[in-house]
Amino acid sequence: MASMTLSEKKIRLKELQKLLSQYDDEYYQNDAPSVSDAEYDKLKTEALNLEKELSQDDLFTDLIVSKKVGSKAKAGFKKITHPIPMLSLENLYTDDDLKEFYTRIRRDLGLMSNETVEIVAEPKIDGLSFNARYENGIFVSGATRGDGTVGEDITENLKTIKTLPLKIENAPEILEIRGEVYMSKEDFFKLNETQEKNGEKLFANPRNAAAGSLRQLDPNITKKRNLSIISYAWGEVQPALPWKTQTEFYQKIKSWGFPIQPFFETCTTYEELQTFYNKVATKRHAIPFDIDGIVYKVNRLDFQKKLGFIARAPKWSIAHKFPPEQALTTINGITLQVGRTGVVTPVAELDPINVGGVIVSRATLHNNDYVKEKDIRIGDTVIIQRAGDVIPQVVSVVMSERPQNTTPFEMPNTCPICGSILEQKKDEVAFRCTNSLCPAQIKEYLKYFISREGFNIDGLGASGIELFFEKGWIKNPIDIFTLIPNHINDIKKLEGFGPKSIQNLMESIEKSKHIKLDKFIYSLGIFGVGEATAIILANEFGSIDSLKSATFDRLTNIYGIGDKMAMDIINYFRDETKINMITELLNYIEIENPEKIEIDNTNPLFEKTIVFTGSLVKFSRKDAEDLARKFGAHPSSSVSKKTDIVVVGANAGSKLENAKKFGIPVISEDEFASLTTKK
Ligand code: NAD
Repeated sequence: MASMTLSEKKIRLKELQKLLSQYDDEYYQNDAPSVSDAEYDKLKTEALNLEKELSQDDLFTDLIVSKKVGSKAKAGFKKITHPIPMLSLENLYTDDDLKEFYTRIRRDLGLMSNETVEIVAEPKIDGLSFNARYENGIFVSGATRGDGTVGEDITENLKTIKTLPLKIENAPEILEIRGEVYMSKEDFFKLNETQEKNGEKLFANPRNAAAGSLRQLDPNITKKRNLSIISYAWGEVQPALPWKTQTEFYQKIKSWGFPIQPFFETCTTYEELQTFYNKVATKRHAIPFDIDGIVYKVNRLDFQKKLGFIARAPKWSIAHKFPPEQALTTINGITLQVGRTGVVTPVAELDPINVGGVIVSRATLHNNDYVKEKDIRIGDTVIIQRAGDVIPQVVSVVMSERPQNTTPFEMPNTCPICGSILEQKKDEVAFRCTNSLCPAQIKEYLKYFISREGFNIDGLGASGIELFFEKGWIKNPIDIFTLIPNHINDIKKLEGFGPKSIQNLMESIEKSKHIKLDKFIYSLGIFGVGEATAIILANEFGSIDSLKSATFDRLTNIYGIGDKMAMDIINYFRDETKINMITELLNYIEIENPEKIEIDNTNPLFEKTIVFTGSLVKFSRKDAEDLARKFGAHPSSSVSKKTDIVVVGANAGSKLENAKKFGIPVISEDEFASLTTKK
């Protein structure tokens, strides 16, 4: 940089401004970044340094990086002008930067050495910011940040987020609450699984999934995605601010029902800030949502006012970014992994690289379509990331680095493990191995069987299954329970199996022999039956014998179980080998059935098929259904002639019309609630 002439600097700056503006549009408007955040941040720092060096006259007026916030609101959305701009934050990266920030704050406030300043430290949530406006305590509109001045109108979308209060008691006449909309890591994975099943686009990370789900012209799509909020700031408040510090504000909005940061600390020294940063950075992976740094905020509002703002950010707050979770590496090979249900997943074998403190050497490529769409080839340099901090994935290929003579990836015709033909069903992106006796499928099923959601045999673990399967000592679930009596002497001879790990193995197998019904149902690996459905089935049927004889009608009457899943459940129990396996398993294990709730058979809800529709105020949909079940009702998702009761909330649509058409009794949410208080 030092060797650049003035005109070279100007040219470079213009180039950077244009490039960053393009990246902003891709990121903020389309939720589809083409470069990693680390790469973006590097270019931005270069541009900011050049802008500082060159005079204002030399800058592109509307592209000045040091003044720009986000990107313009997307076409198609109604626009909302923020009465008070929604700004961004300046970033810092190192301990030295933090010290400089702390010193600057003290200096600008003119503090004496014996005076303290409180600084609140809290996680920086990696989502997208929202503004929710309340007039006389009623939620009236919601907006994204947009370019800081004008955002997109997302009123209806925000309404679908269950944790956003729609009504506040004793609120100021005008109140704007700001915060972050995010998707938990768990919901992100579930969403991508569904997207993949339906052959739809996969989201690169929870932030993009949250942004893509919130900024939908059709709020019904937002409603289907499980979004959450955390509030941490305010916009316009009239007639006067009812708080004097940041922490008082948090207490106040918590009392109004807004979710706030699960943890934050008020620090007074530089060392305390540093300790908080290090503490959160190390447990970052255990937090259920993505965070990308720590935000520091001066606590007292009079101090905030004194410190003021620069063009795009406050001077009394700053973001301390975590090291990037993305990295560049090379693909050395593409291997194929066969899963429990036969799905064949291409996997990138990488030059090992440190991503956010973890060495990554493999990354999922999801499916054939994903590889084709991104044109991922052996030899490519790629951006990888640990989305949701778990399974690393390849985000994109750096095309300019592609070596000559690479060839596009081709999915083979046969299973790499057992050689059977691979099949791609109509409307499915996945290729599957069709041989249910394929050793890879069996091994993966055994890992699933012992997983936390199933038998939870952590003393055995996936690595134990790998080992004992290769040795031929565990070939099916029964072998797990006969492993110790049959092979204890063999195991004692294995390397790495000292008395402690053998003890651990024995105890954890022993403990797993007592299992709750829902976990047992999960462990069967019935197609499409995950943890949540297993719980529903356990509560509905109460025992494995009752589930074995479930009828199609009874199954499809359960909310969340469609025709296909019902048939998959029935077919599972029609398979003699499965029934024999269950019978034999019962010689070793004991199933704990859910407690039978004494149901009052005189309650009007008893044995009724009930459908909830429209937005409920008192209950979440799930709570209402659970409550109905307690009174012996069978919640269902669709209205048919067989429906007995329809409970309507606000804005009910076609289900209400169908209820009227079929002459089904329609009751309000309050009437439903009163039926559940009848003894
Ligand atoms: P930012 O996300 O770095 O920080 C400001 C935002 O943090 C605020 O607007 C607010 O929404 C949010 N925030 C989260 N938790 C908060 C808390 N507890 N208190 C206060 N605010 C909190 O800023 P930005 O301007 O939105 O985005 C810049 C970042 O986005 C870059 O650093 C880059 O990593 C990424 N980006 C990437 C690309 C790309 O192409 N890859 C493009 C644009 C931006």
